[in-house]
Amino acid sequence: MKIMTEEAFDVVVVGSCMTDLVSQAPRLPKAGETIHGHRFFIGFGGKGANQCIQAARMGVKTTMICKVGKDFFGDNYIQNFKDNDVHTEFVRQTSEAATGAASITVNDAGENAIVIVAGANMLLGKDELQEVLPAIRRAKVLVCQLEINSQTSFQALQMARENKVKTIFNPAPAIPDLDSGFYKVSDVFCCNESEAELLTGSPVSNVDEAHGAAQELLQRGCGAVIITLGPQGCVVLTAKASTATHVPAPVVTPVDTTGAGDSFIGALAFYMARHPAMPLEEMAGRANRVAALSVGAAGTQTSFPFRRDLPDELF
Ligand code: ADP
Repeated sequence: MKIMTEEAFDVVVVGSCMTDLVSQAPRLPKAGETIHGHRFFIGFGGKGANQCIQAARMGVKTTMICKVGKDFFGDNYIQNFKDNDVHTEFVRQTSEAATGAASITVNDAGENAIVIVAGANMLLGKDELQEVLPAIRRAKVLVCQLEINSQTSFQALQMARENKVKTIFNPAPAIPDLDSGFYKVSDVFCCNESEAELLTGSPVSNVDEAHGAAQELLQRGCGAVIITLGPQGCVVLTAKASTATHVPAPVVTPVDTTGAGDSFIGALAFYMARHPAMPLEEMAGRANRVAALSVGAAGTQTSFPFRRDLPDELF
């Protein structure tokens, strides 16, 4: 395929698209149990797409490199990107698998349980990446996760690195035996508590433990580590600093925490592209404020704030 665009993008996301099938219920069902929920809706999700859309809503030029099915959900997803001003030239459609889908249950406390069938996402490969290399080269920031083939994510991060494009890697969903090469191609390695726990093999349930985990992850070769801690915000550790900094989040009443981490990473990508010289701790503090807003509303992308919802001081 010939790449038509000569455009330079602020943020390029190589990642997943998922159609979310969301049920809201008083509590999460146990194994073998059927319970009644009070509401069902279909939403747009997938960590890659979520992060891209949060960055786009804040006002940077974004493109998504991904694969969806040649089906209703795939067509719908492409329209969703267009509606959010995300460039879609590099969104591929395949008839070999269905668009990725996620069955999500949210309880009244805002907690969630999720089953993902990655489908077409897993078919994004080397060949497609080679085709989009010109776009990757011209980007300011490239963002990857692990909801697509991990080789594809790794290759994209490597391509970005070779071309001096800043990288954010979000090792989610976490795999225990993550290839050590991922750390070395990550300018910012950003994960949540459970991912940090799985990667380090030590408990990460409070700020102190997160400080220790950040040190451990930094030693593996990334430029900086951010571990998000839900209502407690995050800890940030850069190669320059000797200790991690705890950056608290604003206090909010959670409505639905689905996608909070993606809102945080999308906002972080925005700041890295727009204000590359800003200290990472400052970017993380601002990203906390963006993500905290997303927690105060229902749904995933539906809860992500637009530029107009955010105060000027965040820009
Ligand atoms: P994930 O969605 O990957 O589990 P977290 O739960 O750590 O990620 O949340 C990511 C970010 O979202 C946090 O660092 C914080 O900025 C914000 N956040 C999440 N939950 C809350 C909350 N209850 N109150 C305020 N901010 C929150």
